[in-house]
Amino acid sequence: MNGFGTLDAWVGRTIGLEHLPSRADIDAYQLRCLNETIAYARSQSPFYRLRTTWPERHDLVKLSDIARLPLTTADDLVRNDPSLIALPMRDAVRLVTIPTSGTSGRQKRLFFTEADIEATVAYFEHGMATIVRPGSCVAVAFPAQRPDSVGDLLMRGLTRLGAFPVALPVDSSLDVLVSALRELQPAAIAGMPVTLGAAARRMETDGGGQLRIETALVSADSVSPSFKAALAVLWGTEVFEHWGMTETGYGGALSCEAHDGLHIRETDLYLEIVDANTAEVLPAGRQGEIVVTSLRRRGLPLIRYRTGDSGCIAETPCRCGSVLRRVRLGGRIGEPISFGEGARFPADLIDDAIFAVDGVVDFSVELRTGRQACLAIHVMAEPRTIEDVRSALVHHQIVGPWLQSEKVNIAVELASGSTLSLCRKRKVMVTHGEE
Ligand SMILES: [Zn+2]
Repeated sequence: MNGFGTLDAWVGRTIGLEHLPSRADIDAYQLRCLNETIAYARSQSPFYRLRTTWPERHDLVKLSDIARLPLTTADDLVRNDPSLIALPMRDAVRLVTIPTSGTSGRQKRLFFTEADIEATVAYFEHGMATIVRPGSCVAVAFPAQRPDSVGDLLMRGLTRLGAFPVALPVDSSLDVLVSALRELQPAAIAGMPVTLGAAARRMETDGGGQLRIETALVSADSVSPSFKAALAVLWGTEVFEHWGMTETGYGGALSCEAHDGLHIRETDLYLEIVDANTAEVLPAGRQGEIVVTSLRRRGLPLIRYRTGDSGCIAETPCRCGSVLRRVRLGGRIGEPISFGEGARFPADLIDDAIFAVDGVVDFSVELRTGRQACLAIHVMAEPRTIEDVRSALVHHQIVGPWLQSEKVNIAVELASGSTLSLCRKRKVMVTHGEE
């Protein structure tokens, strides 16, 4: 493991320097890339060419000038008319479609070239080098079968840095996953918090013995403190958070050994934080919606794209010594779920409260609205755990008073089956009862 000095050195080489980059070096590189991206998008992409809301002059003199340009939204990607794609289809190595929640058939379309994919593999290689030793075995708990999927790109990056990645059977049952992990005895693991948390908790009680896993890379829009604490106790693992989405070319930002925010992938992304309601750009330290602009992408450049994730830019330099800017994550803007008279559902807190209960392997949350609102928790655990889950919610210092003030009942039930939500983000289901 190399620490962030190595990642900064790679950033320096990537942006054309022969020395470690200073903050001013990175700012100058980003300004140059932003101007190139804007000029390229305006000439090659029908969507950007035809936008009527561009200012008369759109070259940037300083980074903050980008705020004069219009924002791009998920709806623009879904509609894709005019197309955001900036190259003929024959130059695509990968066209990714992402189903959007809620409406059927609507999907976002992303488009990557060979060079776009290569940039992500290089980022994964040098990012993972900060938390994985060459020569060590790394378990990958992301789907990795499809070429150029996130799991596949991560495995290619790990192979390049000299590690030995092995894809886990994440589409089978929890018990199959657990026995594969025991056989593998990896030094490190990468996956979603839900997957890793469930595996660690199942190993605790199934009599097969626990593992020691030095480091874990977890990718999610928010990682609960109780998950990190459980992994530290059960596997002795130091958890490193990653943030990214298909729109960012998968990789986006990665935490360092200081665990105080995530260093942004500044070779490829320029981040802004905007007020989710007014779209005004917010200064460092203020929480808002994360907006990204791609810096080198040619297949489908994104200019000021609203991610729907919330966070803030850290105000102070990192203790690890890296000059890369950091983002502190704050979950999805779309959540918490609202219902009734402006009542809001603190989904992250509920997640944290339930996983803090010893013995909870996995769970799903259902909010039943109607005359009497009810929070139904389906837990995969020993039957004796049910009362502990109820108690953890009722006595939680924020969730408890909220349940009381909103008159929400709790029903904790044992879940049947052993594949509750193994390889996806935990979502709150909302079902509507009689009014
Ligand atoms: Zn750091």
